[in-house]
Amino acid sequence: MSVSKVSKIAILGGGESGVGAALLAQAKGYDVFLSDKGPLQKKYRQILQQQGIAFEENQHTEAQILAADEVIKSPGIPDKVPLIQQLYAQGTPVISEIEFAARYTKAKFIGITGSNGKTTTTLLAYHLLKSAGINVGLGGNIGDSIAKQVIEDTFDWFVLEISSFQLDNMYQFKADVGILLNITPDHLDRYNYLFQNYVNSKFRLLQNMTATDDFIYFADNPAIAQELSLKSFNVNHLPISFQKKEENSGFFNDGVLQLNYKGRTFDINARELPIQGPHNAINAMAATLAAMAVGLSDEQIVAGLKSFENASHRLEPAGQINGVRFVNDSKATNVDSVFYALNSYDTPIIWIAGGQDKGNDYTQIESLVRQKVKALICLGKDNSKLLSFFTPIVPVVIETQEVEQAVRYAMSFGQPDDVVLLSPACASFDLFKNYEDRGNQFKAAVKRFLETN
Ligand code: ADP
Repeated sequence: MSVSKVSKIAILGGGESGVGAALLAQAKGYDVFLSDKGPLQKKYRQILQQQGIAFEENQHTEAQILAADEVIKSPGIPDKVPLIQQLYAQGTPVISEIEFAARYTKAKFIGITGSNGKTTTTLLAYHLLKSAGINVGLGGNIGDSIAKQVIEDTFDWFVLEISSFQLDNMYQFKADVGILLNITPDHLDRYNYLFQNYVNSKFRLLQNMTATDDFIYFADNPAIAQELSLKSFNVNHLPISFQKKEENSGFFNDGVLQLNYKGRTFDINARELPIQGPHNAINAMAATLAAMAVGLSDEQIVAGLKSFENASHRLEPAGQINGVRFVNDSKATNVDSVFYALNSYDTPIIWIAGGQDKGNDYTQIESLVRQKVKALICLGKDNSKLLSFFTPIVPVVIETQEVEQAVRYAMSFGQPDDVVLLSPACASFDLFKNYEDRGNQFKAAVKRFLETN
């Protein structure tokens, strides 16, 4: 390795990625200083202490950070923070943990981004490779820090979930296989409320990809289609579509996923997959094409697809009461994911929604709601936006701030075969600790109802 000119590294944010970056930087001989404006979790404080890494919490000592040759920033810290602005102004490189880690591995990367479906697709691609015996690691916006994992550089592949905030501070990173699932309005507060800025951020995934690298993308997504019609990228294009079958592509038709990777074909019926709904057909096609790019056999892919278990809170079955099916989709924190959730069922839906609104525009789901939703239960502190939009559309609209009550209401409207869908379209922080807490409370309330009635 050539001797780097950078000797002092400052790390902003002491969570999983920051502490992992600190460990890697120390292992590579840098002078490391980690700073977090809030308190550190005990486990991370202990690691830093045990390793003798300099750190501070509940403050940023700006002089020390500004003196660094390079800064690794947690994706949670927005660019508009004055300290970050100062770093940019004085020309200090600010990078993400993935960018830093990628310098120290010979592994190849499957990089996965999109507004929705990242976690599901990342876990599925990882599972396909892992169950086929590939020496693969998982990282990015999920699981263990990738920086920590490259200290002992043992993997041949990494499957990475990459958020737009991480992409914003990635420059040299190159994906060997890039997956772009969709781009729909989200996080616009971090992009000056300009959708195009957010689109540009997502397309940074392609920035160093070359003609031999595989770019898998959902071609029916308007923002992706528009961008690809305006700019050209010299990569191996693998569009996924419900509308158009191309040579080298994923095509979903009549319930069958039809994949073609450089002339090799592979088909599977969606009914055979453990993840359901049209959005999961997209995710499954993307992960399967990636597996084909890595060179997995048909048998390995089939076995992996069948044995996959998705993470909780994404259209997760949450129990049945008198034939009424409960589904926990607490992770659906924006309108697009609710669109796909509503599309996943042919039966009447009792929809539980609400929470902290992130600037939602409900027109995208208006006609679906009109067709499918027989009752809306608003579960939030301030439900005014949902109430005013949906009261004229949905036969029954009711409010509560308690999960138990939401389940009771649902049962009072529910008929056998109906689906009670918690798919909130909103963040959870008004009434819950996070989306996991919301989903867990929902599942527990369904269970209690079953036990006590
Ligand atoms: P992310 O990591 O991008 O937030 P997840 O896999 O955790 O994605 O899914 C988040 C939410 O989006 C869930 O409610 C899920 O049902 C929905 N979803 C999953 N895949 C897609 C997709 N391809 N398009 C739209 N919505 C999706």
